[in-house]
Amino acid sequence: MTTDHYDIAIIGGGPVGMALALALRDTGVSSILLEARGVPENDEDPRPLALSHGSHLILRRLDVWNRLTRNTPITEIHISNRGSLGQTILTPEDAGVPALGYVVNYHDLFCSIHQQLLNSETDYLAGATVTKLDTGQQAGTVTFDYQGETRQISTQLLVLADGGKLAGQLPQIEYHEHDYHQWAVVANVKAEARQTGIAYERFTPDGPVALLPNREDFALVWTVSPVEAKTIIALNEPDFLVRLHRHFGDRLGRFISAGKRSAFPLMLKYAVSATARRVALIGNAAQTLHPVAGQGFNLGLRDAFELANEITLAHVQAREIGAPAMLAKYQQKRQFDSSAVRIFTDSLIKLFSNENALLKHACGLGLIALDRTPPLKRFVARRMIFGARG
Ligand SMILES: Cc1cc2nc3c(=O)[nH]c(=O)nc-3n(C[C@H](O)[C@H](O)[C@H](O)COP(=O)(O)OP(=O)(O)OC[C@H]3O[C@@H](n4cnc5c(N)ncnc54)[C@H](O)[C@@H]3O)c2cc1C
Repeated sequence: MTTDHYDIAIIGGGPVGMALALALRDTGVSSILLEARGVPENDEDPRPLALSHGSHLILRRLDVWNRLTRNTPITEIHISNRGSLGQTILTPEDAGVPALGYVVNYHDLFCSIHQQLLNSETDYLAGATVTKLDTGQQAGTVTFDYQGETRQISTQLLVLADGGKLAGQLPQIEYHEHDYHQWAVVANVKAEARQTGIAYERFTPDGPVALLPNREDFALVWTVSPVEAKTIIALNEPDFLVRLHRHFGDRLGRFISAGKRSAFPLMLKYAVSATARRVALIGNAAQTLHPVAGQGFNLGLRDAFELANEITLAHVQAREIGAPAMLAKYQQKRQFDSSAVRIFTDSLIKLFSNENALLKHACGLGLIALDRTPPLKRFVARRMIFGARG
């Protein structure tokens, strides 16, 4: 078996792995991206992604943003808690940005990054399934199946962007996991009220329900118990629309129609450290979060961006790529952002998804206080947009 050598081997060509590969183009660092599936699925993943203004800036630098023509700017976010009075409204002025974020379709984002990747000089193998990882003091080795052959690559740094599937092979990587026992039901829905730009995040004891602006329609992310998710997916369209109306309330009038429904199980999974010997984790491989507040991809994109910076800096300064010093800097840079966003999203779920009347009242008061305290609003909004450093 022949063994090729690259400075960097990226495993997993989801949106975050592809973003890292793009960020490394034209840097003089040799890299390869290995993806088990790789080509955009014909069947569209209906998941909406709320991209923060910070992600928008990174995607512009990667020349991906201009391909994402179907995006809806978020001009207001309404946050409320069912069964209590409080509400907070966030606007771009609160955060000092042109838009609070942009809603895009996962499939569009995937295709846009993928197309840009194909236009670059990046070595990219789709249909390459990694089966084995080994790491030593000086280098790592990746074994993968490609077109019926087993191949091997040696590398200075192995980047896991595989959603966390292969990390079990590396004893130095330890995960914490928490099952929320919730699923997200996702669909595109049309409401009686015609408006654009307003995102609704409504907390209920079963979990949050979000309606994100998708041009004149809404992208629904409805969190429910696993049993209820199955029931909701199986409902006929009129019954589904009535049930959603009953659950969400009357703010948008009745719901008129819905597109294909899909459901995703939700869990919190995060690596205690985002690095190990000759290994760095990015995206969902580093942390998989609850989709409340739409932070997972935004955080993963910042992982990719920071790692690309550290790699490029090491290369320019003729320091060893993937050496303990470089990995320690990456870990140190990401730890604060990753922990803060994880604790923020996890606390939202734990605080708001409950039936306790006293706690519900306290959450309502919290939303009122947030709404009436501009510096606090600015603090929260900027952290949702730019990460922990705001
Ligand atoms: C319902 C829902 C709504 C969401 N909404 C938002 C939102 O509004 N905003 C936001 O920022 N985030 C959101 N997220 C989170 C976001 O979708 C994820 O964080 C993001 O897609 C993770 O991308 P990734 O590239 O890290 O991982 P993945 O997309 O999991 O990609 C991993 C890739 O690795 C490949 N792979 C796996 N194993 C191997 C192997 N052995 N060999 C080679 N390749 C392999 C897979 O084929 C896959 O392509 C949401 C998530 C859900 C479920």
